[in-house]
Amino acid sequence: MLVNTNLALAIQCNKCHSICTNKITLFQLKNNKYININCTCGEVKARIKTENYKEYRLEIPCFVCEEIHIFKYSLDQLLKGNIVVRCLNGMEICFIGDESDVKELLKKKEEDFTKVLNDLSFYDYFVNNDVMIKIANKIKELKKEGSIICECGENNIGIRLFPDRIELKCLKCEGVQIIYAETIEDYNNLLYRDYIMIHKDMVEYIDRFSYNNDR
Ligand SMILES: [Zn+2]
Ligand SMILES: [Zn+2]
Ligand SMILES: [Zn+2]
Repeated sequence: MLVNTNLALAIQCNKCHSICTNKITLFQLKNNKYININCTCGEVKARIKTENYKEYRLEIPCFVCEEIHIFKYSLDQLLKGNIVVRCLNGMEICFIGDESDVKELLKKKEEDFTKVLNDLSFYDYFVNNDVMIKIANKIKELKKEGSIICECGENNIGIRLFPDRIELKCLKCEGVQIIYAETIEDYNNLLYRDYIMIHKDMVEYIDRFSYNNDR
């Protein structure tokens, strides 16, 4: 089977706000070394690296919320087709895929965009975009209030987004809390929580099953 390892990335620049398309080939990536994706204005729009040629880590300084978003893809996901990458407020910040599809998409950006995305078979990073956005916002709110804490006393907590879940990681010990974000029940479970406690040196899950059990 012939696999196309050339990808086009269209990313809106965080500085000049223009969108241009950059091409990379996956063979260009050396293990654990970032390559920068530059805007025509000189700004670094994103950087990408591979971890053991299995996972690909894409970091984008977001033009919408000004945070750096981190996305991880498997090789399969990158080769599978066209991907829409969104900020947590739902806004598209990057398109990855076949060069002609990405160009076609940018040409039609003014039209019914959801339809154009579907026609060109772009798929979302998140399994359930609406649920992920709701859950991520709830978590950000808790974090802002200082309501996400680790048993070890640390309140410096890292948030990582995956297609189906969010991981909260204590930056001091090895404590991790995993929160699934696939269904509306996942969101309902979190909705009335007023804090999240990470357990020291432990990996735990919040999903509809475990949460119902501890009630
Ligand atoms: Zn720029
Ligand atoms: Zn953002
Ligand atoms: Zn801790």
